[in-house]
Amino acid sequence: MRRKLVAANWKMNGSSAANAQWLAAWRDVSAPCDVVVCAPFVYLPQVGAGLAGSGAELGAQNLSAQAPGAYTGEVAGEMLSDVGCRWVIVGHSERRALYGETNELVAGKAARAIALGLKPIACVGETLTERDAGRTLEVVAAQMAALLAQCPVEQLAFGALAYEPVWAIGTGRTATPAQAQEVHAAIREQLARADAQAAQRTRILYGGSVKPGNARELFAQPDIDGGLIGGASLVAAEFAAICAAAS
Ligand code: PEP
Repeated sequence: MRRKLVAANWKMNGSSAANAQWLAAWRDVSAPCDVVVCAPFVYLPQVGAGLAGSGAELGAQNLSAQAPGAYTGEVAGEMLSDVGCRWVIVGHSERRALYGETNELVAGKAARAIALGLKPIACVGETLTERDAGRTLEVVAAQMAALLAQCPVEQLAFGALAYEPVWAIGTGRTATPAQAQEVHAAIREQLARADAQAAQRTRILYGGSVKPGNARELFAQPDIDGGLIGGASLVAAEFAAICAAAS
């Protein structure tokens, strides 16, 4: 039985004051699932301290594929561990689209995270053009194949995967539970071809305009093991309501 996992992706949002308010509200929440909060780099120490004792774990939104050294502006996985991160998102579609991250680079970042004991949340998903062309499963399979080329399944199971259709992220347009389940099942089948037991252990999250009103039906699908939540995670009460739907 896979325990549900709900992760907040704050993206490039927040301030010291706004984070403090969020963390104060979170203190009253008792979530029935595993919870991760992925904050911007500069706020990781603040958010880590604020989450202490709440059961929620700290995550980052990206890491360098390199070891520490002369890489101006980058942040190494070692530094994330050093400030208390247990998790890190890799391959978010915004990083793929806006910062040119390729399938291979994303897989390298996942491998580097795993090597450092950080749990990657590795994101995959198709664009609207790809879905409309009937290429969803092919595109996701290629993203998964690149991940599997650098990270054995039992290592991916250490972290989590996130299926995030690009057309559903921040658009208010959610995949239907059936659309999401179809892709989640295909991902799990692909994992199972390499290692059936590890595939059963791997948590596959859905991301894309998850809200308190649609979370329960999505999370009820057999291969949906929780969510990666963007916009709705910025309000502690909304995020808590989504976590409650993962009971
Ligand atoms: C995300 O950024 O990972 C995401 C799913 O965003 P939203 O929930 O806002 O669609």
